[in-house]
Amino acid sequence: MDHFLYRNGALYAEDVPVADIAATVGTPFYCYSAATLTRHFKLFQDALSPLPNLVCFAIKSLSNVAVLKLLGNLGAGMDVVSAGEYLRAKAAGVPGDRIVFSGVGKTRAEMRLALEGGIRQFNVESEPEMRALSEVAVSMGVVAPITIRVNPDVDAKTHAKIATGKKENKFGIPISRASEVYAEAARLPGLKVVGIDVHIGSQLTELEPFEMAFTKVAELTRRLRAEGHDITRLDLGGGLGIPYTRGNEAPPLPQQYGALIKRTVGDLGCEIEIEPGRLISGNAGILVSQVIYVKSGEERDFLIVDAAMNDLVRPSMYDAYHDIVPVIEPAPGLETQAYDVVGPICETGDTFAKARPMPPLAAGDLIAFRSAGAYGAVMASEYNSRPLVPEVLVMGDHFAVIRARPSYIEIVNRDTVPEWL
Ligand SMILES: *Cc1c(COP(=O)(O)O)cnc(C)c1O
Repeated sequence: MDHFLYRNGALYAEDVPVADIAATVGTPFYCYSAATLTRHFKLFQDALSPLPNLVCFAIKSLSNVAVLKLLGNLGAGMDVVSAGEYLRAKAAGVPGDRIVFSGVGKTRAEMRLALEGGIRQFNVESEPEMRALSEVAVSMGVVAPITIRVNPDVDAKTHAKIATGKKENKFGIPISRASEVYAEAARLPGLKVVGIDVHIGSQLTELEPFEMAFTKVAELTRRLRAEGHDITRLDLGGGLGIPYTRGNEAPPLPQQYGALIKRTVGDLGCEIEIEPGRLISGNAGILVSQVIYVKSGEERDFLIVDAAMNDLVRPSMYDAYHDIVPVIEPAPGLETQAYDVVGPICETGDTFAKARPMPPLAAGDLIAFRSAGAYGAVMASEYNSRPLVPEVLVMGDHFAVIRARPSYIEIVNRDTVPEWL
């Protein structure tokens, strides 16, 4: 459930009419609901309770500092994958001991930054990374807390581009080699092993792959303890999927996911960390756009809208489906018409939907792409020199622009022409 609903025939974000925001901000823009973000975050906390836990929001899904501040104020930890994300978490006031650092390619500079600013743990993904971190920590005279990300070789049954837990994927170390790698970690100076990390993919719509992975992590915990390691934390990653279509899709709920965690690893006495991104942010955001033209095609009509693949890349990158709804509620029983919904960019890939049944629309009408909060704004670019799409946060009856649209002058002035030209 989210807070983007029709009231008196108009789409609202919480208590604010979406058309009012569009009139102030212009289109396209992303709009997030504070109440939805809050609700989803708390669902995870409740689902893990009473186990000692830290819900670390995967910043990569939605990284606006205002959103991080909102979640940080609720007690969220943060899962970061780059120096930039680390600095965003700090800018939002999240203390270092609530930040975990994931990612296969952490540089020494990133390690140093996090060790200076404070870090809960590094989720180490390879032996070369582990050795580099050891050297960096020793050179700074500090100890880096680490988990090692294991690759459990399970099929997450999701889109190939976001499956990460199969042995052919680049992530983590093979679980079969864990004993060896943990033994080396224990020998290396400047490192302190605190736990195990696993993350098998994103947009998982079944619990079974999680169950297989967490069961393997439980077995590994017992084995590593028997081998003398102090395993006190389990980071179980993110990946719980969300419904993108209304009706027939019902991914497992955080409550069921929490019950599974308790059943598989709950008796180990470990602190549980999870790294949900999409489930917290996905349905907490919409992308609002305006119809520029309705163009009649040979086979069907095109809705040419002012949002494009540079603003929301998921349909062209992952073949993702987004519900598209008019901001003015269609009259009940109104006959729909099939449209191809496309952006203005010079690529056929700039297509949001094909033959999508929609109520008849005209130039100037506003539409909203639902479930666009995760992997939306964060993946936006300025391709075609289109200004980076702005973001708005709604709370109750008020809203604020939390990232402004850059002006064309700003965009052009970012380039520097060398004086010898
Ligand atoms: C992407 C990612 C997440 C978040 O995944 P969601 O599907 O958005 O929940 C968490 N942890 C790691 C290591 C990731 O790469």
